[in-house]
Amino acid sequence: MKEWLEANWDPDLTVGEWWERFGASGWAAPGLPESCYGKGLPRSEVVRVQDAVSEFGALPAPAGLGLLLAAPTIATHGTDEQQERFVKPIVTGAQAWCQLFSEPGAGSDLAGLQCRAERDGDEWIITGQKVWTSGGQVADLGMLLARTNPDAPKHQGITYFAFDMKQPGVEVRPLRELTGRALFNEVFISEARVSNSAIIGGANNGWAVANTTLAFERAGLGAGGGSAGASAAVPGTIAGDLGRRPGGLAGTSPLLQAVAKQVGANTDPLIRQDLARLYTLTEIGRYLTLRQKALRAAGSDLPGIGNIAKLSMSTILRLSRDLGLRLLGPRGTLHAYDTAGTEELTKLPGGRFGGMITEMALFAQAPQIYGGTDEIQHNILGERVLGLPKEPNNDKVTPFRDLPRS
Ligand SMILES: Cc1cc2nc3c(=O)[nH]c(=O)nc-3n(C[C@H](O)[C@H](O)[C@H](O)COP(=O)(O)OP(=O)(O)OC[C@H]3O[C@@H](n4cnc5c(N)ncnc54)[C@H](O)[C@@H]3O)c2cc1C
Repeated sequence: MKEWLEANWDPDLTVGEWWERFGASGWAAPGLPESCYGKGLPRSEVVRVQDAVSEFGALPAPAGLGLLLAAPTIATHGTDEQQERFVKPIVTGAQAWCQLFSEPGAGSDLAGLQCRAERDGDEWIITGQKVWTSGGQVADLGMLLARTNPDAPKHQGITYFAFDMKQPGVEVRPLRELTGRALFNEVFISEARVSNSAIIGGANNGWAVANTTLAFERAGLGAGGGSAGASAAVPGTIAGDLGRRPGGLAGTSPLLQAVAKQVGANTDPLIRQDLARLYTLTEIGRYLTLRQKALRAAGSDLPGIGNIAKLSMSTILRLSRDLGLRLLGPRGTLHAYDTAGTEELTKLPGGRFGGMITEMALFAQAPQIYGGTDEIQHNILGERVLGLPKEPNNDKVTPFRDLPRS
């Protein structure tokens, strides 16, 4: 990897030129199969490659839901033609993706989704509303779940489409969060179109394909991957980063230990105890990954590891939030929503790290919700790993159109 970077990294390339070179080499998405713009490496090796890229100082691969979710899903379920059409522009950052799963009445109960797709010759006509669509405002394409057969039980009448976001009938409206940012959106779809050849994994087989995406989402989030938008440069044709020079697009830094030292709290035994807990939880996560790697190498697996990793990530963030706010004291209650305010706050204890902590604290509510809430992860572990009985219902046999709706 290092030799490849030495031969190929060039800070004078534009972001688009670098990603084109990086993606085509297979190193931008080394977890994908070699036949699909990857290197076929296991997750632990993928992390090593990512570390090598950042240690070298090169611009990382195009972050976002394209690389995290769409590419591995299409590599698993897509045809050769779809892999060529969709995966290449993802690994080279040419196209950005969003995830059009959740709806106002379908989040945890995702299979209850009502966005509908009706066949019209070689195309499908899509009408419905999606919500919490991270990165929807900069996405070229969306992983769209739509109901194609309301007469089938709810899990069986869903289809997974690669959906063009830049077309008439698609309206993206940003939703502002506590942090002041608008990472996610509502998406209103009114008689938009998608080709039959953009169905991933076959008509009415979308639930199985969606579960692949959700498994990659849990694994990615548990491993520390962020949601869309949290990268140094944004892929796709809309964000406008492809023509930028990568120089100066740096990463972030350690945080809580530095602030503890800065505010003189690093000798406080309770603070030290929580810093140690945080370190321990992070190390347990790392060992869990190593254990899984060893089990996989021996032809076995650790059931539920993705769910456990995701739960652990949301525990770590909550602890970081609580500890960070304790370190900042009253300053932790202040958050700026513009550049001048942010500058002003850097004069207070905690300095520029203080702003990062309050932002993290405000965002810490999110990871226990996205990618399946903590309660849903517990349900999955209970039912699928521990074999506990499911709550009784007749969802699996009743046609979707006969189910009660909220
Ligand atoms: C920051 C962020 C980014 C997101 N990005 C995307 C995105 O890009 N694309 C996308 O499609 N979606 C996205 N989501 C949506 C996310 O997947 C949903 O919010 C999540 O699945 C929960 O659905 P809901 O909000 O409808 O809550 P609900 O499903 O209504 O749940 C409300 C509460 O009830 C609990 N609950 C529900 N059912 C059960 C049950 N059976 N047992 C126990 N407790 C239960 C939940 O745990 C929760 O506490 C995002 C969410 C957030 C916060």
